[in-house]
Order: sequence, then C-alpha cells, then structure tokens
Amino acid sequence: MKDVKQHTSIDFKDIIITSPFWKDRIELMAEKVIPYQWDALNDNIAGAEPSHAIENFRIAAGDSKEPFHGMLFQDSDVAKWIEAASYSLVHYPNKDLESKIDEVIELIGRAQQKDGYLNTYYTVACPKKRWTNFSFGHELYCAGHLIEAAVAHFNATGKNSLLDIVCRYADHIDSVMGPENNKMQVYCGHEEIELALVRLYHVTEEKRYLRLAHYFINERGKQPCFLENESTYGSDLNKSRWSLLDYHQAHKPVREQTKADGHAVRAMYLYTAMADIALETGEKELEDALEKLYDNVRQKRMYITGGLGSQGHAERFTFDYDLPNDTAYTETCAGIGFVFWMHRMLHLNTKSSYADDMERVLYNGILSGISLDGTRYFYVNPLEVLPEAVQKRFDLDHVKAERVQWFGCACCPPNIARLVTSIGQYIYTVSDHTIYTHLYIGGEAHINLKDGEVNITQTTHYPWEGSVKIQVNTKIKEIFTLALRIPDWCNHYHMSINGEAVSSLYKENGYLLIRKEWEEEEVVEIEFDMPVQLIQAHPKVRENAGKIAITRGPLVYCVEEVDNGSNLSALSIALGSEFEKEYRHDLLGGVVILKAEGYREDEAATGGELYRIATNSDKPIKIVAVPYSMWGNRGNGEMSVWIRKK
Ligand SMILES: [Zn+2]
Repeated sequence: MKDVKQHTSIDFKDIIITSPFWKDRIELMAEKVIPYQWDALNDNIAGAEPSHAIENFRIAAGDSKEPFHGMLFQDSDVAKWIEAASYSLVHYPNKDLESKIDEVIELIGRAQQKDGYLNTYYTVACPKKRWTNFSFGHELYCAGHLIEAAVAHFNATGKNSLLDIVCRYADHIDSVMGPENNKMQVYCGHEEIELALVRLYHVTEEKRYLRLAHYFINERGKQPCFLENESTYGSDLNKSRWSLLDYHQAHKPVREQTKADGHAVRAMYLYTAMADIALETGEKELEDALEKLYDNVRQKRMYITGGLGSQGHAERFTFDYDLPNDTAYTETCAGIGFVFWMHRMLHLNTKSSYADDMERVLYNGILSGISLDGTRYFYVNPLEVLPEAVQKRFDLDHVKAERVQWFGCACCPPNIARLVTSIGQYIYTVSDHTIYTHLYIGGEAHINLKDGEVNITQTTHYPWEGSVKIQVNTKIKEIFTLALRIPDWCNHYHMSINGEAVSSLYKENGYLLIRKEWEEEEVVEIEFDMPVQLIQAHPKVRENAGKIAITRGPLVYCVEEVDNGSNLSALSIALGSEFEKEYRHDLLGGVVILKAEGYREDEAATGGELYRIATNSDKPIKIVAVPYSMWGNRGNGEMSVWIRKK
C-alpha cells in the first residue's frame, strides 16, 4: 500500500492547552478523575457499582482465586484508563501515577497466555470458548482497546512494556484470522480492533497489522453472514432487537452502506476505521461510502447536541428524522466515536462541517456525560428529562435523571477521560504548506511544516466569547497558509492581521485562507459574532414540531427546573426575543447564562380540567437557560433543550 495521506495531526505532546475552559478540565482529569477512576476499577468507591476489572486481571494472572465478575468486555475499562492516564502524564508528570500504570501493565503481562492471547473473561470464565462468539464476545473489541492503550502509553512515555504485550497479542490474532484458508474468516461484532490496528501500524510500521485491519473492513457485511451461524446468535437475546445484522453494521458490505444503521458506538468506530483505511490506501470507493454515511448522519440522524443513537433498545440508530428527546440513547461513547470519525474525515478532505460537528458533539453531547466535579457520569444523554418519568416509565429504563458514580457497564467514563486528556490533537491538522485550525482552544502548539517549524499561540475565551488571537512565530521564508475555520453558527466575523483589518480573504470549504510570507512574529485576530440563535428542526422531526432550541456559539442551551420551576413543557419563547447574557463566576464553575422574556402557560386557567376549549393562557415570565452540557449539576430536576415556540 502506498502512503497517500494528505494531512497529518499534530502530536498532542506538541500542544500545551492554556484555554481556561479546557485547561480546567484537563487538570481535573489529572488531579481527580484519573485517581477516582483507578479507585472505581479497584472497587474502592463506597456505593458505586462494582467493577472488578483489575481483580479480573489478578485472577487471570493467578494472583487471586475469586470468580470473574462483570461484563465480558470489562478489560476495556482498564485499557481506556491506561490510555487516559498515559496522555495525562505528558503535561502533568506524576511519579505515583506512572508507577500505577507500570504495575497494571506488569499485571496485564502476567495475565497474557503463552500464545499471546489476552482476555480475562475467556481466560478465567470460559477458557474453552475462545474465538467462538464474534457477535457478542467482544474479544477483538477488548484487544483493540488494549492496543490503543499501548500506543498511547508508548507515545507518552517512550516505554514499550505494553506495546510488546499487545504486539504479541496482535501477532496471535493475525495468526488465526485472515483471508488465508487455514485461518478464520471473521470480524468482531463490535468494531474497535480495526482502528486500533491502524494505530499499532503507525507506531510499529508492521504492515501485517494494517493488512489485518483492512481485511476486517473488507470482510464485514459479506453475505451470507457468518455471525448468523454462530451458536450464540440470538440465543439469549431478543432476535428482533439486538441480533439484526445491521446492529453490527454487518447487513451489507461496508462500501454499500449508505445510512448510519445499528448500534451507534459500533457504527462510529467502524466509520473511523474506514476513514483510516481510506487514508492509507487512497481508496475512493471507501471515501464515497463515508461521505454518504456522513450526509445521512448530519442531515437526518444527529441530535442538535451531536448525540447519536435514537433508541435505548439496541442502543441504536432507527430511521431518518427519528430523534425523540426523552427516550434518546445518545451514548457518551457514541459522541466520542463521532469525534474520532470527524477527525479522520478532516484528514481525508478538509471541509469545515466535519469540524463543526466535532465541535458540536464535544461541547454538548460529550461533556454532558461528566459532572463538573468529575466523579459522576451519564451513559445516556437525553435532551429532555422528567425525573418522575425516568423513575416510573419502563421505556426510560436506560435513562438516569442524575449522573451516577460508576456503571456496571462502564465504557463511557474512561472514554471521556482519554478524550479530554488528548484534546490537543484535534485542534489542528497540517498538510505540506497549510496549517488548518479546526477548534478554537487556547494553547501553544509546535508545528512542523514541509519548510520548517511554526509556533502558534492561540488565545481565546471560547466557548464563552468569539474572539480568537493567533500569534504565528516562524523562521520559514517561503509562503505558507494559515487556514481558519468559520464555524457554521457564525454569520459575521471581523479579522485583522497585525492590527490591520482584512476583509477579502479567499474562503475554501469553510476555511479562511491566509496565504502569505510570514514575518518572524505576526498576530492574526478574528472576532466571531456569537449572538444567541433560536434553532428549529426539520419539520419531519416530529418531537420538535413547534419548538425551538437556544444556542450561542458552539453551545446548545437548556432550561432546568432549578431556574425555571417544574413543568418545563409549559414554557414558551417567541422568535426575536431579546436575550441578556451574563457571565456568572459563581455558577457551574463559571458560565455564561442566558435570560429572556418568555411565557408560561397558566395552570390556574385550566380550572383543574384535563381538557378544555383552547384559549391563550400564557403569562410572561423570565426564562433562564444554561449550557446543556452542564445540566444536572445542581440536584435532581427537570431539563429540556427544546421549548415551545410562542
Ligand atoms: Zn459508553
């Protein structure tokens, strides 16, 4: 395969984040979240659902005689924690944490079998069932997360202790699966191994790993589908819900898939890997398939928060425009997978909508998954919550009205930790002579272009304010381009270079291109107008008919009971309402809240009747909105993103 990559990322090690919004969150990860999650994985948090994930490795290593406990993919929680902890070490060195990572890697090494196999569930609980349940067994999924952890650990620390372990495991997998007649022609029911093998290839340059990832992608969806012949298939699950082939994106070959179907996290990890393979091979057919899938997601299947997955049953996509607010699944992991996919798409083809959606889900549908203190989590991120309904309605069994300490199935918490601790890598991409700025996050970046080095210092109070200052420092004498994304929410902006206003810059695919010879130190300033916007959904989104959502810049806002009283469905707001914005240091860790004159339907006018002749009984009130991602940090109460349009 020839190397056809156009764009590269910047190593997250070369970016130091200084934006208060993100710096605070990264520090929270280093100081509180990573130690907290370590305690959770070791069952040291009173009242939290047990994990047993570390204990499972002890059992597999022969250190403990306890029975295996937890989900059969419990190993992946440890892997994601190692990944997050490794990223964190780069900018927040911590000897104690480093030795914890070393210890757990040593334990993982001892849990590895002689032939390289490494999975505690199958080693401890059913050793004779290895590689027999590709539909739901998650063996390759867990392998993928271990590989990602090893790559992160190697990149962050230079140590190859975990890398050596996973290479032995990947070699084992490569020896038993693949296109050759003496191997199993299979793939995993939960994608993840594919993108992980590409990452492993990038650090080891071992082409077998890339070939195996490519093979898994090519094999997926071939009919008749081998998954249906597995003895486990549909045996203990409701076949109509969880065992449809599209649940695994296995209903047709990946290049023929045009709609985002099935389990949302699986879909995101698959599309990420498809983009990885397209980047390595330059295959147009794969890229075209990804474009179709993306159009379907962006135009018809994505929540305004960037959340993905409309239904709790099978945690999946359903059909176009089916975006219910209260029964939404919108798993935090699906949002994280969406970031991975959009980031890869930006490498394939730099279009600003990919970065718009990466930003949308990052600031809304992902950050909602973690409390401001870092110790409570949502798995499901609905856009409307009524605590009593969550408690009493069986179709809301998957929803929680308050974030919890941990989950029996804890995929999301360490996934957020690994994303936030490596957020720097999503800000820029680079081609030979262009630096693309996708996210406005303050920090210092060291960037290598073809002709030399560039240091970029970005300063901003984003997402609260739209002003961004970019200092460019370089000794490069040749012309190069600084490309700045114009966010899709921004209709007006003002720009200056070294204090002089600039208005006639060339715009391409949503990016302003500043192409010039740069002096040693120059300053680009851009001010994105960030007005409050009232957004309506496509009329086919039934649940949002007659409703609007409040946004400002990249942030989706919501109303909460604590600010607006109960029964939020009685609230309404008129188009053209004047919004007052207020930065509150004392609230939610520092936040811009929005206030406007709105209305509340007067309950007294009903006379207690369930039905009556329709009248206008709205009374004026003040509506207060806070960023959706921060909801639920002030006790148990109602929340809604969409409000009736007056
Ligand atoms: Zn998850």
